[in-house]
Amino acid sequence: MNAITHLNPLGTALVAGGAGFVGSHLCDRLLDRGYSVICVDSFLTGSRENIAPLTNHPRFRLIEHDICAPLDIDERLDLVFNLACAASPPHYQADPIHTMMTSVVGTGHLLTLAARDGARFLQASTSEVYGDPEQHPQREDYVGHVNCTGPRACYDEGKRAAESLCFDTMRAGEVDARVARIFNTYGPRMRPDDGRIISNLVVQALSGKPLTIYGTGEQTRSFCYVSDLIEGLLALMLADKNPGGPVNLGNPGEFTINQLADLVIRQTGSKSRKVHMPLPKDDPQRRRPDITRAKTLLGWEPRVPLAKGLAQTIAHFSLGVAARPERKAPRRRRSATRAEATAR
Ligand code: NAD
Ligand code: UDP
Repeated sequence: MNAITHLNPLGTALVAGGAGFVGSHLCDRLLDRGYSVICVDSFLTGSRENIAPLTNHPRFRLIEHDICAPLDIDERLDLVFNLACAASPPHYQADPIHTMMTSVVGTGHLLTLAARDGARFLQASTSEVYGDPEQHPQREDYVGHVNCTGPRACYDEGKRAAESLCFDTMRAGEVDARVARIFNTYGPRMRPDDGRIISNLVVQALSGKPLTIYGTGEQTRSFCYVSDLIEGLLALMLADKNPGGPVNLGNPGEFTINQLADLVIRQTGSKSRKVHMPLPKDDPQRRRPDITRAKTLLGWEPRVPLAKGLAQTIAHFSLGVAARPERKAPRRRRSATRAEATAR
């Protein structure tokens, strides 16, 4: 491995999951700000296309690696961002044991690496730690309503365990860890077959297919444009003072899935109709962040309204991405043993 330390004026940031949707935007932004970037990714759901423009950058380095296996990096790290984890329900449910191991074992490996170098650590946690919330909007002190035996548990409980690991490692004095609870984020570079709502609806509308609405479509989500999220992640990681607890990052604008589908139809000019399909088990009914902590502690709030971010996302998918043949959601794999999952 060729170390790139001599080229980094600000320091070296490791981005696990850096070839994914959010991770690749984060790599771009860190390079723009002058950091050297080491992207660690197994390409489970990420793509080489997302980081293709970076591969010849003198301050960028790619390590293809699954964080379930220990990793050693031959240079000193200043920042460690852990974004590695499939985030779309069909993808994280395809191999649930591996999803859980990624959050627990993988986060443990990255925390060890950060502790080795005294690097700051940021964990990409999720609004899913609140489960199907009984508090609305969700504040960080809400402990959640999660089904630990259902099909979403591999993700929700894995992320909850990862948060525990971060706070326990921090209380042990080993690392300065920060936890971002990210709410539904969208934008360019989502995979057309990602399976999440915005990419599904946009691809369906652009290709004249029916828009799939699960359940009544009256469940709500709050959608954050990716550039806003990236600024929030940076503000959290670079804040002088550790917030001392998790911080919600999301856009408080709340929409039903039916409202979102109507907006997609209007903005694409599509003739597609909505079709209703069964609601997946444990699908949360309402979700909206209370971002008081992010505003107060980080001076951060989102700037891009849904109508604007959606137009930019539609423009991205219109550039031929939607023309690709639609791939089916991944088939649920045979349950792996813990040993197999960690060895992968
Ligand atoms: P994504 O699936 O596009 O990116 C995840 C990346 O992690 C991919 O590049 C994938 O290949 C990589 N990865 C997965 N498992 C890995 C492993 N074991 N080892 C190494 N690499 C691995 O998803 P995203 O939307 O970009 O999400 C990024 C992070 O943010 C995830 O941790 C996700 O849980 C979190 N998050 C995202 C959202 C959102 O709406 N986008 C919301 C809440 C939380
Ligand atoms: N959803 C939908 N049609 C789709 C994909 C998702 O109606 O084609 C619904 C899903 O049931 C959920 C909401 O949209 O209520 C958001 O789903 P997504 O998978 O994007 O994220 P999450 O459920 O993890 O918030």
